Amino acid sequence: MALPLIILGPPGAGKGTQAARFAARHEIPKISTGDILREAVQSGTEIGLRAKASMDRGELVGDDLVIGIVEERLRRPDARVGFILDGFPRTVPQAKSLDAIMTDRSSMIVVDIVVPVDELVRRLTIRLVCSACGANAEPGQTASPCVRCGGTLMQRSDDTGSVVRERLQVYNRQTRPLVEYYRSRPTFCSIDGAQPPDQVAMAIEGAVKVAARSAGLTDGLVQ
Ligand code: AMP
Repeated sequence: MALPLIILGPPGAGKGTQAARFAARHEIPKISTGDILREAVQSGTEIGLRAKASMDRGELVGDDLVIGIVEERLRRPDARVGFILDGFPRTVPQAKSLDAIMTDRSSMIVVDIVVPVDELVRRLTIRLVCSACGANAEPGQTASPCVRCGGTLMQRSDDTGSVVRERLQVYNRQTRPLVEYYRSRPTFCSIDGAQPPDQVAMAIEGAVKVAARSAGLTDGLVQ
């Protein structure tokens, strides 16, 4: 049986880091719409051209565009064993589309990572990511190379002052309502993301186990 997971939270909550850890541990693909869009922008594809201006301003790209990307990605064979969605859904229409795509939406586990806003701004404005593989720098790391691939670390172009503020406002306006959309489901869990990353990871493992049981997913998948 598959292990489908959604990871919610504002920019800077640690979704990408935690999704990567969870994906590696459970051998399921991490599907990040932000990563897919950045790659599309870099390689100058049509999707990239359509997304670039909104991304530069810190706004969301159109629902149809990202829904199409996710639909296509979830059809690939590796997603049959499960997946962790990072950065999708980000609007209620996206969440409704995902519910429609999923054959068994009740089994979808939703993890919401909660972090105070001051901490988010602090993290985002000092965050470094690898220009080659997209991984976040290690906590406290201030210079290259990337520990994963040896690539050059840099600041993301949308991690600068005014764009960070815009992204947080966009989150409050368009994405926070999703928490209410999912909250009443037995598979919803909320995690304190202000703790050190190892503790957040442990909290996610524990919460997912409980949620998976309530969704009737087998224990074997959630070790
Ligand atoms: P992220 O890396 O998740 O912070 O995403 C970076 C940017 O990509 C966002 O600020 C949006 O412009 C765009 N983006 C990523 N995921 C979505 C989504 N699900 N819906 C709309 N725009 C998205």
